[in-house]
This record gives sequence, structure tokens and C-alpha cells, in this order.
Amino acid sequence: MRVKSVLKTVLGLCAAVVICGFELASDGDRPNVVVHVRPKAGRRGRCGRCGTVSPWFDNGGGQRRWRHVDVAYATCDLVGAAPRVSCPAHGPTVAEVSWARHDSWFTRAFEDLVVYDAISSNKNAAASRYGISWRAVENMCVRVATEALGRVDLLSDLVAIAIDEVKYKKGHKYLTVVCDHLTGRVIWAAKGRSKETVGAFFDALGEKRCAELAFVSCDGAEWIRTVVADRATEAIVCLDTFHVVKWATDALVFLYSWRNVLVRTVSLCGRRGSLRAGVADHGRRRGEFTPVSARVAVLLSSPMSSLFMARADWSVSLSSRTSASS
Ligand SMILES: [Zn+2]
Repeated sequence: MRVKSVLKTVLGLCAAVVICGFELASDGDRPNVVVHVRPKAGRRGRCGRCGTVSPWFDNGGGQRRWRHVDVAYATCDLVGAAPRVSCPAHGPTVAEVSWARHDSWFTRAFEDLVVYDAISSNKNAAASRYGISWRAVENMCVRVATEALGRVDLLSDLVAIAIDEVKYKKGHKYLTVVCDHLTGRVIWAAKGRSKETVGAFFDALGEKRCAELAFVSCDGAEWIRTVVADRATEAIVCLDTFHVVKWATDALVFLYSWRNVLVRTVSLCGRRGSLRAGVADHGRRRGEFTPVSARVAVLLSSPMSSLFMARADWSVSLSSRTSASS
């Protein structure tokens, strides 16, 4: 077996890469394996951003060096030409090479390894282990995540989603976050918390997939509920347990306090006019005559079994939609 073939196998280079030569240098205390590479003829002249076959523009910055995964005790670099092509969409751009992502000084294999370490531990530990800066690790994470997101459609097959906001940094800075209930993953996020932000999510989703939504859970925020009611007309809006328990508790307090007022007013006054005046004054003073608490109070006064039956119907409907989509 030829040395170049052994080297290609050990370095994990694909068939689209040609090894032109190699040498052993010194990188401080450690030896440095330098491998000269080039793309195969059929893979040349493609835009580094979109992969479109494009005409040659110039030689760019000449030879470029990419850091590769270490070979045992030695460090390893790939060296090759980085010409520029004239892409119809992106203009003059460095040509694509199969061993590295666009605009990176590291090979794909090295970036994947560092990002895996950054996810397993943290970015500082990964930067320290491989002798690179925290910023370099951060950029690797962005490139790998961007490439991975380009391969999957997070907004497909959505049946039940949750919409809420989360605060970040100081001051009133918020992100609107959308999660998929079935996978438990974040599928969309954007800065801001407004009707326009929620509308941007439904714009990205499209009308067809909006109509396929069966359940949308959210809190009592009007800027979410109104947009959901307008854009996802087939979906059932499910309120989160925190607000439901809070509203139910408020309604119970309201009911008990109202009953106490009735009993006290009837016992003291004994007249219908005084009864109405007493109740109205009590409500204004305590500020409990809100539409939500009034609705929950009506629900609580009806048999609770109907509520549980409704929840059971929803769960049956959800499971049927899930099995149908799978
Ligand atoms: Zn392009």
C-alpha cells in the first residue's frame, strides 16, 4: 500500500481529495505533519458559499493552511490552494474545498471534534484542550450549527407547540421561543415579544402547516393568543398550568369572599338594594371582577367532571393526530 493511501486513510480524507505530497516539520515541541492536498478535477470551481459551479476569478491569497486533527503525538496541517471564483449569486468568493467549511482555518474533522468537546464540557475547556481561542470555538459552533440546521426542517410535522417568551441580559430584552411538545425541542426563536414576532413564526411556518397545528399552548399573554387565533384557526389554545392554577385560585378567593359578603350583607341589612350595593362595592375595592376570574368562577361553579372529560377528549385527539402524522 502506498504511503499516500495510508496517509489518506489515517487522516480520514474522502475520495474527492488528492494528496500531492507530505513533509514532517516541527511545531514547537511537537512534530508537525504537513500534507499538501487539492480537490479532484470534478470538484473544482464551485462557490464556497452555495456550491454552484462558477468561472475562475483569481488565485485569491495563494496557498492556505488548515489545521487538521492531531496524528498521535504530532500536529497536522493540510495545505492547498484557495483560488476565488465568480459566483453569480455571491460575487468573487473563495472556492469550495471538501475538507473544510467556508471561511475557516480548520478542517471539518477538527471542527466537529472541537464542537463535540464544547458540547460535552464547555467552550473554555475545549479551547484549552486544543490550544485555540474561545472565539475560535464559538465560530466553529456557529458554522457546525448552521450547516446542521440547513439539513433539517425543524418546522415540519408540527402538531402541538408551545409559545412563550424568555428574558435575556439586563433590561427588558426578550426572546420569543417556540417548542415542539412531541420532541421537547426548541424549533424557533427570535428577538422581541410582540404580535409581529409571533406573526414572523407563522410566516415561516406557512399557511398549510399552520392549518395542521392541533394544539398551541401559551400563557395568558394577549400578543400570543390573538395571533394564534388569527393564524392557526384549527388549533386549540391550551393555557399553561401556572396561569390556570393562578386564575382558579383567584376565582376561589373571589367566590368565597363574595359569599362572605352576601352572608354578611344579608344578615346586617336584609334589603335587596343594600345587597347589590355591597357586592359591587366589594368587587371594586378588591379589584377581583376581572373577565378571566369571572369566567373561571363560572367554570368552577359547574361540575368539574366536564373539565376532565374535555381534557380526555383533547388527549385522544392528540394521540390520533400523532399516529396519523407518523
Ligand atoms: Zn455562491
